[in-house]
Amino acid sequence: MSMPPLSGLTEMPPQVLPPIRRVAVLGAGVMGAQIAALAANAGLEVDLLDLTAELAAAGLARALQSRAFFLPQFAGRVHPGSLDDLSCVGRADWVVEAIVEDLRAKQALLARLDEWVRPGLVVSTNTSGLGIAQMVAGRSAALVRQFLGVHFFNPPRQMKLVELIPGAGTDPQVTEGMRRFVEEVLGKGVVRCLDTPNFIANRLGIFALADMLRRLEAGFTVAEIDAVSGPLLGRPRSATLRLCDLIGLDTLAHVAGTARQLLPESEAFVLPSFIEQMRERGLLGEKSRSGFYRKEGDRLQALNLQTLNYEDLEPVALGDLETLSRLPLGERVRAVWSATDRLGALAGDHLRAVLAYAAEHAAEMAPGVEAIDQAMRWGFNWEAGPFELWDLLGLPGEAAPALVREVRPAGRFYLPGKVYSLDEGRHLPRPGDSDPLAASRELGQTANAVLLEIEGGIGVLVLQGKLNVINTQTLELVHRAVAQPLRGLVLWGRGGLFSAGADLKHIAGLCANRDWAGLATFLRAFQEAIMALRFAPFPVVAALRGLTLGGGAEFSLAVRGRVAAAELRMGLVEARVGLIPGAGGCKEMVRRFGACIDEVFPILLEGRTSENAHQARQWGFLGGEEPVLLNEEAVLTRALEMAAGLAQGYQPCQPARLEVAGSAGLEGCRRWLADHGNTLSPHDLEVGEALAQVLCGGDGPARTLSEQEVLDLEREQFLRLCGSPATQARIDHILKTGKPLKN
Ligand code: NAD
Repeated sequence: MSMPPLSGLTEMPPQVLPPIRRVAVLGAGVMGAQIAALAANAGLEVDLLDLTAELAAAGLARALQSRAFFLPQFAGRVHPGSLDDLSCVGRADWVVEAIVEDLRAKQALLARLDEWVRPGLVVSTNTSGLGIAQMVAGRSAALVRQFLGVHFFNPPRQMKLVELIPGAGTDPQVTEGMRRFVEEVLGKGVVRCLDTPNFIANRLGIFALADMLRRLEAGFTVAEIDAVSGPLLGRPRSATLRLCDLIGLDTLAHVAGTARQLLPESEAFVLPSFIEQMRERGLLGEKSRSGFYRKEGDRLQALNLQTLNYEDLEPVALGDLETLSRLPLGERVRAVWSATDRLGALAGDHLRAVLAYAAEHAAEMAPGVEAIDQAMRWGFNWEAGPFELWDLLGLPGEAAPALVREVRPAGRFYLPGKVYSLDEGRHLPRPGDSDPLAASRELGQTANAVLLEIEGGIGVLVLQGKLNVINTQTLELVHRAVAQPLRGLVLWGRGGLFSAGADLKHIAGLCANRDWAGLATFLRAFQEAIMALRFAPFPVVAALRGLTLGGGAEFSLAVRGRVAAAELRMGLVEARVGLIPGAGGCKEMVRRFGACIDEVFPILLEGRTSENAHQARQWGFLGGEEPVLLNEEAVLTRALEMAAGLAQGYQPCQPARLEVAGSAGLEGCRRWLADHGNTLSPHDLEVGEALAQVLCGGDGPARTLSEQEVLDLEREQFLRLCGSPATQARIDHILKTGKPLKN
């Protein structure tokens, strides 16, 4: 399908690098194998080499086991081999060096690579912090120009951050080309770093860990350290010591060692002696099942540093800090900054040390403070980076670092539309927001949805509010949307997800009041809205990412086209609350699979959610040709383009006749239920029977039904299940606990 770009949406600078289709990953350890999987997930062909072909194959097998691939068959795109034979580099567009973190070993390999360098080939290293320019010192001018650091974080599929580190001799075109490739094709968040030891995230992140480890040595407990260095400071629950366990104490010691060796402020990276003692005893963290913490049965225990024995974890009394955890980050850090009690002072001293270190060394790490903040958000999942924290605190402290005092007259590092440039020593405009909805016109709004129109006559129905649930007002807005003189419509969800589904609270309320007429009206309205989208006079396209469940999935199944983020979690999950898809979900599955519903039946009955968009496609939720993008930010733009492309000469959809299997199909479903009887509860069997009735078109011969006839069956079974106390108990349970009830 050829789609003309919408004005302003897709004007891209011309290509600066030849397209990357084939990759050679050198080193098949923890990172190399996973980077190979990431590239295969993006559709690239990969040669994965290690010291021997067996080691490479073992790395590939580990990546498969750790679910680094979206689908197991994607591993077929990765070809293991030995580093003895580098001829695959001759076919590659990009070489990723990911061997052991040892400068000499890396230099030796790059020397061998030199003879394979040709125009257009990019060579990158995944080093965690060794010098980029130093690595290619003495190599050909071509290799120096085409070489840079492209530093993935572990695990590369999940971690958003990629640090991009050009060396002094790297061609700026290569850096820019790789930025675009890593963002657009691999879907990562790129931060540009300067070529200094450990770059940004590891330097600051390990500084913070080392600082807290030394405070632990000064007389605090494991539990206390983690209680004050997690969410209280805007960091994940893994805080300090759980994170150390996750990284592994051997790796931590290695990265801290590099910092001590290469950075003048080596004392900042000194680790207390108990780290060495723990390593000697094999207490490395999660990889050895014990580190600062260990699981004893179902009890969590923490290490006592005095005795090196484990003791049951006791909750920490945080005193005044307790109430802080519910406050916005700014209030939390301001309170911590001035706290004087024992644990408050611990948190405050640590925060001051981290923010001071960031400010004192910022200019060595990046051209601007934004890169540093972004690296800490993406690389260590901090809620805010150090300079955002300085701003939240109001740049306090008489003895604040020079940089902070320099910025103080302007008030903040971030001003509206501007950010402080370390290079230039003043605030500079920030690059504009590329939000395609920024210049839209509002056509209608409710609490849970807004209807916008962008240039070119394309409407966007944006689901919003708590989990973007779909309620009666949303359905009314759908009807208003399809009545507009638009060229196309895109469905989109705010906040990283499409929609968690229909407003379950509303359904629970109707059930509790035994308002069956009200429930029937709601369900009919839902079905009508979905049919209005399906038969709209213009193409409707769903832009999908994150959770796309229940009614949300039904919205997207009904429309003309879909564009999905690769990490899509899509499912017709109604059975988990004792229901069946009642707003066209069953009908759409019948439209896709006809009488062959045996594969679909278990997926719907188990209420399964896809692990990614490729799996969703296997289940029929996405069409074979519909785009799956690793770059989540591009999903909306691509959907707008698809709608605009389809709008040309658009013929509205015609109602279909749907093949159903009748009694023979029902028998097959009942056999499945009988075969799985030992894992199914009595109510699962009842839901299964209702689902089978709809998917098979009830008893009778195999035949065709109209879409409306299948919708009527859906409604009948849905309403019947709503009357069941077991279904009501499931709905109440999930609303109260967020977890499904097995009854
Ligand atoms: P690893 O030890 O798991 O794998 C390294 C691989 O290199 C092994 O398979 C080994 O067989 C091979 N190798 C060893 N010596 C070699 C030599 N002399 N020549 C060629 N190959 C050799 O290491 P890893 O964790 O995958 O790290 C690889 C690179 O990625 C390192 O530069 C590391 O600093 C970096 N890195 C690691 C992480 C992480 O969390 N593990 C994160 C980001 C970056």
